[in-house]
Amino acid sequence: MTHQSLQLYNTLNRKIEPFTPLNPNSNVIKMYTCGPTVYNFAHIGNLRTYINEDTLRRCLEFNQFQVQHVMNITDVGHLTSDEDSGDDKMELGAQREGLSIWEMAQKFTDAFVNDITELHILPPKIWCKATEHINEQIELIKKLEAKGLTYPIEDGIYYDTSKFPTYGKLGGQSLDELKGGARIGVTHGKRNITDFALWKFSPSNKKRLMEWDSPWGKGFPGWHIECSAMALKYLGDEIDIHCGGIDHVKVHHTNEIAQVEPITGKSWVRFWFHPEFLIEKDKEGTEEKMSKSKGEFLTLSLLKNKGYHPLDYRYYALNSHYRSKLNFSYAALDGAKQGRHNLIKLITELPLTELGQQPTEKSTLLNIINKDLNTPELLAYLWSTLKNLRLSPSQKCAMLPDIDALTGLNLIESAKEFAEQKLSLEQNIPAEILQLAEDRLLAKKNREFQKADQLREEVKTKGYKIIDEKDKYKIEKL
Ligand code: AMP
Ligand code: ZN
Repeated sequence: MTHQSLQLYNTLNRKIEPFTPLNPNSNVIKMYTCGPTVYNFAHIGNLRTYINEDTLRRCLEFNQFQVQHVMNITDVGHLTSDEDSGDDKMELGAQREGLSIWEMAQKFTDAFVNDITELHILPPKIWCKATEHINEQIELIKKLEAKGLTYPIEDGIYYDTSKFPTYGKLGGQSLDELKGGARIGVTHGKRNITDFALWKFSPSNKKRLMEWDSPWGKGFPGWHIECSAMALKYLGDEIDIHCGGIDHVKVHHTNEIAQVEPITGKSWVRFWFHPEFLIEKDKEGTEEKMSKSKGEFLTLSLLKNKGYHPLDYRYYALNSHYRSKLNFSYAALDGAKQGRHNLIKLITELPLTELGQQPTEKSTLLNIINKDLNTPELLAYLWSTLKNLRLSPSQKCAMLPDIDALTGLNLIESAKEFAEQKLSLEQNIPAEILQLAEDRLLAKKNREFQKADQLREEVKTKGYKIIDEKDKYKIEKL
């Protein structure tokens, strides 16, 4: 059966377009994703973006492409304001944590890797840290300088955006919009409001926690240059897809383009992919962007402590289309938790031992996901198939590996675990013991090992034994 080829929304042209690889003779896709700034934990808004980018990667792989996926870690140079002013987020983070800046960066890099692992987000093939590519960034700034695109002012070397004729094309900004507020240029000594720092100087009276020598003086790179330099290094002059949250369109990605295209003389990125935000509404119903500084700081660990499984959040995220804003509420997350639970229960009733024996038919799934990653429809299709009385249990079972590959929901394994737990229920293990064992698993996952040991002892004194098996356990009567 033939199927719909992949159609993707491309921010560059503001429309859905057929996706074809840059190199028609190869099935390798070059994909660059802007990664986290590691000065704090990721919030669940950030994680929504990474889940949606993971869906894109999974969809490409389902379409038989091989994805050469690169993600950066921003561990230097991201100031609290996109205007190249304000404090350095990394320096503030180190003060808050009472750690050295390097230890702090490592702590939140590890936390990020842990979050994406728990969310079943596929890791990139290459991780790259900004601090490990200072030379590459300096070299790129030198090339921009040689082209006459830069100028020095008191606090750094800036990019003159008026010298790049197509500046702003990604965000569709008009010349008026770009020129608006020119007064800011005067106060900062910038020539145009959109000009941005390529290299910032260390203050003369203060040693920064992170600084490097450069041809222009001691300092640190601006935030935007790292992605251009590392993408060029690892993926070459032209790439298929560049991803990042929707807030990156008008500044970060616009600046990334300005740093690359005048050097290569080529159009850099074929498809720009920008998932929408997770938002919070305040009491008056006004939309607010989720942030790390306001109110309850919503992290994956916080959700876990409240009793949600990381995949409940993934399921919740997949239930909305990546190009729609999603308004976070616990009520909706509860609905997702229940939905995922019911899904797993339905799947335990299928003959999972037959998996892999039936031929699979991918065209229906491709028709759905290839419509600009229609994950809500994919989940609706999963539900309707599982409930379809005309299909045999074996037929229902056959689609599960493909559903898992596309959604990352790990349904088959979850159903197997659930079935085992049900089995232990059937062995007449009291609810109290099951609860203690669950509490212990959570304590272990949270690395509260002392608490976990105490719970194991408590279970033992009540006449039961917990046997650990990679991420799960069995309970037996002593
Ligand atoms: P950061 O660590 O701040 O650089 O952000 C990491 C990623 O999360 C970027 O791709 C941002 O565009 C994205 N992002 C930031 N806030 C949100 C939000 N509320 N919802 C979805 N994505 C977000
Ligand atoms: Zn970036």
